[in-house]
Amino acid sequence: MQCIQCKRLFLNEERIASISGSIMGDEHTDAYFLCPVCGVYTVASWWDDFAGVESECLSGPKSKQEGDERVELIRECSEPWDKKCRCEAHRKYFNDTLD
Ligand SMILES: [Zn+2]
Ligand SMILES: [Zn+2]
Repeated sequence: MQCIQCKRLFLNEERIASISGSIMGDEHTDAYFLCPVCGVYTVASWWDDFAGVESECLSGPKSKQEGDERVELIRECSEPWDKKCRCEAHRKYFNDTLD
C-alpha cells in the first residue's frame, strides 16, 4: 500500500484503523493509512463478493481531520474487524446499509 499523494510505501504501523462489514452479502473492508510526510489519509477498500471475487480500490487523500473522525468512529467498536457486528459505530460507519 502506498500514499495516494506522495506514493511513499506505508509501514505496518501507519495502518491506523480498519473496519469490516457485510453489505448485501458482500464483505467490505476499509483501512485507513496516515502518511507522516503528507499528513493526510489514504483509504484502501476491499470488497469480497458472494462469488469470492475480490476488488480493491484506493481513495483519498483525505484530510487529517476528516480521517481522524472516521478513525474515532471505528475505535468506538471493540471488534471493528467483525463483519457481523451491528453496534452503533458499525451502523453509523456504513450508513445503516449493513445486512
Ligand atoms: Zn504521502
Ligand atoms: Zn461494531
